[in-house]
Amino acid sequence: VEYYLGNIERQQHLNAFLEVWSDEARAQADVVDAKLAAGTAGPLAGMVIGIKDVLAYAGHSLQSSSLMLDGFKSLYTGTAVQRLLDADAILIGRQNCDEFAMGGSNESSYFGPARNAADAERVPGGSSGGSAVAVQADMCLASIGSDTGGSVRQPAAFCGVIGFKPTYSRISRYGLVAFASSFDQIGPITRSVADAALLTQVMAGPDGMDSTASQREVPAYSQQLTPASHYRIGYIADAVDSEGLNPEIKAAMETQLDLLRGQGHVVEPVDFHYLDVMIPTYYILTTAEASSNLGRFDGVKYGYRAPDATDLESLYKKSRTQGFGAEVQRRILLGTFVLSASYYDAYYTKAQRVRRLIKDKTDELLRQYDFLVLPTTPTTAFKIGEKQDPVSMYLADIFTVQASLAGVPAISVPVGEDENGLPIGLQVMAGAFREAELLAFASLLT
Ligand code: GLN
Repeated sequence: VEYYLGNIERQQHLNAFLEVWSDEARAQADVVDAKLAAGTAGPLAGMVIGIKDVLAYAGHSLQSSSLMLDGFKSLYTGTAVQRLLDADAILIGRQNCDEFAMGGSNESSYFGPARNAADAERVPGGSSGGSAVAVQADMCLASIGSDTGGSVRQPAAFCGVIGFKPTYSRISRYGLVAFASSFDQIGPITRSVADAALLTQVMAGPDGMDSTASQREVPAYSQQLTPASHYRIGYIADAVDSEGLNPEIKAAMETQLDLLRGQGHVVEPVDFHYLDVMIPTYYILTTAEASSNLGRFDGVKYGYRAPDATDLESLYKKSRTQGFGAEVQRRILLGTFVLSASYYDAYYTKAQRVRRLIKDKTDELLRQYDFLVLPTTPTTAFKIGEKQDPVSMYLADIFTVQASLAGVPAISVPVGEDENGLPIGLQVMAGAFREAELLAFASLLT
């Protein structure tokens, strides 16, 4: 705990943590020490973990990096966080992220951007940017983030660490601030596949507080990390050949595919015809869901209330106008529009249909192949302030939203650096609930 607290203290310029729970972490370390001595310690004893500011922890501030939740403290602890505590993890603090997890650079945070430890002028990715840089810069052993369209995998790729999004519904969403409920999934950011496996195993499983959490039993992932000697691997050819892909990322991916071929695995190109409809489909559906989920922030029940309101309607209007940042407002407006009576069928219903096509095609490919490989991101970490246009930011999610639209598990693994020393991530998807196989395979890449 002292080691990580020292690293946090020395690297405050990276803006990874919004709050550090030093005293509590020290006290918890003493408890864990005593349990270790008594032989009663849980499986995560001694693991020092940071949590993204979208996870509820009773008595602790929860703000989703937004002014809208200013002063709000959670009344309860979410399931994933409770399971970490029950397994004797040590929680060290609350981590910076994009406002309401909307973004891919951590720049939409009310608390300012987090910074990439490889180059502090560059973004750590997002939305779980603080969580990724905290692991990259050794400010905690692991972080817990959330991934709606890449928010665990993309910052992990930008920061040279591992980011794992389990199958949708594998980990209960109880106590996770809702962004797009049919996409949101909690996931770990770690330095090793073994830690990702162990943390997922602890957090996953049925939960009486979330009826959408899967009832399936959770395998002991951390004990099944030995890869098989023969896999069938497909790589998404249209992704590799796409125009915007940085040549160094393409080369890093080809190197990995060659290594896999050399180990005797079958590696084949596959065509996935929906690459160009992925971003519109994702942004129509997630903004629709977000506009509904964020309706609860009305200036009455939580956090921020406009001081200058004169009646109920102006209370709603002013609180939401002042409390939400520009990106969140843009998405609420877009989502409200695609759900409006005259446009519902043209946008929302159509996007639902396209999501089904994407899911069916992805599932079909994942029956033919054990895994699908593609880049995590089209570029390495970009400069803070570089992407001013929201659409260019959205387009950068091109490779991560497929797994989110299809609900399948996906992991980003670091596979090298570009000529500027910026990390490169490779992404692997597997069929729904094939986390054990996916994690075992990922260990071949590190
Ligand atoms: N960058 C994507 C978005 O802005 C993903 C965010 C996320 O996964 N929370 O929607």
